[in-house]
Amino acid sequence: MIVGRMNEVIYTRCCIAGGGPAGVMLGFLLARMGIDVFVLEKHADFLRDFRGDTIHPSTLEIMHELGILDEFLKRPHQEIRELAGQVGQDSVTIADFTHLPTHCRFLAFMPQWDFLDFITEQARRYSTFHLKMQAGVTDLIEEKGWCGGRARKNAGRATANSRPADYWG
Ligand SMILES: Cc1cc2nc3c(=O)[nH]c(=O)nc-3n(C[C@H](O)[C@H](O)[C@H](O)COP(=O)(O)OP(=O)(O)OC[C@H]3O[C@@H](n4cnc5c(N)ncnc54)[C@H](O)[C@@H]3O)c2cc1C
Repeated sequence: MIVGRMNEVIYTRCCIAGGGPAGVMLGFLLARMGIDVFVLEKHADFLRDFRGDTIHPSTLEIMHELGILDEFLKRPHQEIRELAGQVGQDSVTIADFTHLPTHCRFLAFMPQWDFLDFITEQARRYSTFHLKMQAGVTDLIEEKGWCGGRARKNAGRATANSRPADYWG
């Protein structure tokens, strides 16, 4: 099961195309449920285009529910409890997070690549989680009631097939 060798075939329960916030979080959630999952990301790393840095209180609440909030808050970040703007001579409060019914009553600032690095680190605690970088998905394969994806990694090609639960016995 190594992506990169010519025409190598990977069998897994779930194959996710794209290691952005949606892909790595889904991979993490499935892996912690014991579902074997491959996240295929076409880039070599997460450290590229700026894609934001605000982590909202609702996202932080989900991290609390997942039991990873304390670890997350140990990472370098900034906490903003109130946003204000200046209109003429007046200072206007735009957002006040201190009244929210959440554990974190603030907006956390952390670059998205650090957030992705954190989620994948948490996901890797589960042996069912696999992340393949430089694996750009090129095709969707549908065959006999199951579907999979074809990925290209460096010079090689690989096929990741997700098969239904009954296939795994
Ligand atoms: C300038 C900017 C600032 C932003 N600021 C914020 C912010 O402060 N707070 C906030 O919450 N949101 C912010 N956003 C929005 C946030 O970035 C997106 O909501 C989020 O990135 C969407 O996540 P996603 O996983 O759905 O998609 P993406 O982040 O687009 O992830 C998709 C991933 O799939 C990979 N991929 C694509 N095609 C393939 C393929 N064929 N094979 C394999 N991999 C593939 C891509 O390389 C990418 O890593 C901002 C967005 C931008 C552009």
